[in-house]
Amino acid sequence: MNWYGLRVHEVEEKARTNVKTGLTGQEANVRLKHFGANELQEGKRSSALVKFLAQFKDFMVLVLLGATVISALLGEMVDAVAIVAIVILNGILGFLQEHRAEKSMDALKELAAPQATVLRDNKWVKVASKQLVPGDIIKFTSGDRIGADVRIIEASSLYIEESALTGESVPVQKRIDAVNGVDVGIGDQTNMAFMGTMVTRGSGIGTVIGTGMNTAMGQIADMLQNAEENETPLQRRLEQMGKILIVVSLLLTALVVLIGVYQGHDVYHMFLAGVSLAVAAIPEGLPAIVTVALSLGVQRMIKKKSIVRKLPAVETLGCASVICSDKTGTMTQNKMMVTHLWSGGKTWHVTGQGYSPSGEFTEDERKINPSAVKSVQQLLMFGCLCNNANISKRKKEYVLDGDPTEGALVAAAMKAGLTREALAGQFQIIKEIPFDSTRKMMSVVIRDKQGKAFLVTKGAPDVLLGVSSSILWGEKQQSMTTLYQDEIQRAIHHLGSQALRTIAIAYKPLRNELINERDAETDLMFIGLQGMIDPPRPEVKQAVQECRDAGIRTVMITGDHKITAMAIAKQLTVLPEGGKVVEGTELAAMSVEELEDIVEDTYVFARVSPEHKLKIVKALQNKGHIVAMTGDGVNDAPAIKASDIGIAMGIAGTDVAKEASSLVLLDDNFATIKAAIKEGRNIYENIRKFIRYLLASNVGEILVMLFAMILALPLPLVPIQILWVNLVTDGLPAMALGLDKPEDDVMKRKPRSPKEGVFSRGLGWKVLSRGFLIGIVTLLAFIVAYNQNPNELKYAQTVAFATLVLSQLILVFDCRSERSIYHRNPFGNMYLVGAVFISLLLMLVVIYYPPLQPIFDTLPIKGRDWLLIGGLSSIPTFLLVGAVLTKKPKKQSKLKIVNQSKI
Ligand code: ATP
Repeated sequence: MNWYGLRVHEVEEKARTNVKTGLTGQEANVRLKHFGANELQEGKRSSALVKFLAQFKDFMVLVLLGATVISALLGEMVDAVAIVAIVILNGILGFLQEHRAEKSMDALKELAAPQATVLRDNKWVKVASKQLVPGDIIKFTSGDRIGADVRIIEASSLYIEESALTGESVPVQKRIDAVNGVDVGIGDQTNMAFMGTMVTRGSGIGTVIGTGMNTAMGQIADMLQNAEENETPLQRRLEQMGKILIVVSLLLTALVVLIGVYQGHDVYHMFLAGVSLAVAAIPEGLPAIVTVALSLGVQRMIKKKSIVRKLPAVETLGCASVICSDKTGTMTQNKMMVTHLWSGGKTWHVTGQGYSPSGEFTEDERKINPSAVKSVQQLLMFGCLCNNANISKRKKEYVLDGDPTEGALVAAAMKAGLTREALAGQFQIIKEIPFDSTRKMMSVVIRDKQGKAFLVTKGAPDVLLGVSSSILWGEKQQSMTTLYQDEIQRAIHHLGSQALRTIAIAYKPLRNELINERDAETDLMFIGLQGMIDPPRPEVKQAVQECRDAGIRTVMITGDHKITAMAIAKQLTVLPEGGKVVEGTELAAMSVEELEDIVEDTYVFARVSPEHKLKIVKALQNKGHIVAMTGDGVNDAPAIKASDIGIAMGIAGTDVAKEASSLVLLDDNFATIKAAIKEGRNIYENIRKFIRYLLASNVGEILVMLFAMILALPLPLVPIQILWVNLVTDGLPAMALGLDKPEDDVMKRKPRSPKEGVFSRGLGWKVLSRGFLIGIVTLLAFIVAYNQNPNELKYAQTVAFATLVLSQLILVFDCRSERSIYHRNPFGNMYLVGAVFISLLLMLVVIYYPPLQPIFDTLPIKGRDWLLIGGLSSIPTFLLVGAVLTKKPKKQSKLKIVNQSKI
């Protein structure tokens, strides 16, 4: 059907809907069943069985299975069955890990899914876009991504960017009139909004006419399956490292086998030992454990109210050295209340609580009647007319629907008895020029009962000052002279220095209602100012301090006035003594190179337009910083994208900002960024922990075999024991390390360099030294036991097996700390305690449970030998700890912060 050719009232009928009340919830459900979810079909996913079988495609597993066949052919059935059992167990574990990672990634996608504002049962509600059905009435505004194909029925300065469909990046102005013609191209259907396109300005309402694959986007869905890069740099580095490790392990294993055969060992046993050793030594489980650690960390981050949209950001978070944060709503509560009015040189105070309409007006502490003072009356009335916010009473509480700045103006007007309903009876709003952060103002064209038209503008005072040619001074209109301008500047300064956010109101009579938007906001009469409080979020000050301790500088970027921004920045200790404050106009005049010269000392950027943010990101990055940048609007997207960690606001953020971001804050709170950085650092540290553990263990396993072969000793471990260690001792505790809590100094360290390699900060040394010692003590245990009773090789092998297992299970506690084992409470990670306990138990079962003894070639260990095993197993962990203990982390110099009492 050609929806664009219909008139608005015909759309309602054809779509079987009601534009006043929307669909009923019941009807929407029926249609959802009939039309299906509003989703583009993705490529098919492989089934669980296929994924399970894929676990056995691994090269090393195939080698193992080959070894099983050979064992079976040689009649060694016990070996064959045991190896198969271990291979299957390994497969199940791998499958579970992968499945879990995939599930949590799906949950993340779900959380980040776009939403739509839809009229259902006569109420505007937010639903996931995938629940939209044909006939739904939806509302959209600047920054929204359109959730379905829509015929527009209301439009206010509505511009939509349709490049995803048409390739044309200039936004198209949308109207509601029918478009004539057949086969009108998408770009010319000016009364339609299409799924996936973006509202760049204004707002509108429309009727959904197509969902899911029945949309213009659905028809080209295949082209849109753009896979997002979701592998982290560490994962990539590990992949490369894994290849090197495979070669090294294979070479060493071959060496063990060759020496063994040369020393006269049986070829079959050496072959089996070699295969087992290769399987054990190659950390094939590493990528899976890394993915699990990442996705578990990401889930913990959700609990702390941040959603990771791009996995690599988890790692980059730990490298962040500067956070550029918006002020309003992120550092402050965004709960505004007007406390001051200024007009014609006079100031009035307003009392009250939140958005409640009760409060008083005073002048010099004397109560006044606001309706009796013309300037106060006009200030409040115009503030309320040029406004889209609504305040309603729900369960004894006044709730705001709309922008908090505008809500504060509505509440102030209500305190003077000026409600929106009453004003709507006297004035008609004919047109709106919406607010945007670059113009920093908003206007409406109003007609009164006598048919006279006005333009009412509200916005940033310094901006309105520039477009006002006269001023209301007392009851009279005066020409704007420098004298009046100075008075206004003084008033702005006075209010701003009390951390108040200021909004100016101006107006002008119009001869012609059909004014040109571009020339409208000129030649205005300045009426006055409203100053509103926006208290800082209580937790932010501490978060800024913690970031500072972690070597991360906080920079405030705000559209607000310099004086207001400075006052809040000082309260939050963002602005240190001597720290610079730069304004948007100065910034605009600077090149990126010029900005680089001052960017290190600048802590506040005020009156900034979103476009300037990109310059700030570039200058900081050129100075070698890893930059986290917050944003919420359409124009913030380029800076969010260009930054190393783009952060979007979950509540106030537009779809555009969210899509550009790698992290979304569910509560829009600065403190959440700090929590995410801490978690990011922790996830990375945990990955380092189990790499350290796994590789040290593997080195130990290879070396004990190699040394034994060189010394012409019998095999200190039998193949099945090696496989067991690989599965149990290496598997469970390593996973538990991925769940470890952060060390208490994790936010006292400097940010990590993004170029840092896997083995940096002493990790390589720790792996080799501990691994070497594990190899040595296992061999020693074997030699001692073997010398005691050379006829019982099995007994000596069991002692070696127990020593290897125990030394790894002790080492795992050392791996929890970058400093040493003494810095951490061993019971701090109960998963690890549990994993170690299970591993110990399983070891004892293998040693003491008679039916398993022939399979694992073990004999029960005698009591006194446990002393030998325990003593030797402690050496790899405790021998080297003393040296590390003496190293203390360097203290960082603290910045001098302006004392709050001075402000
Ligand atoms: P931040 O960038 O920290 O979130 P902000 O909210 O102050 O700060 P903008 O939204 O760009 O940034 O607002 C800039 C200025 O525009 C404000 O200081 C205020 O004076 C003015 N302003 C804000 N909202 C409105 C509005 N709805 N109508 C008119 N003017 C507004």
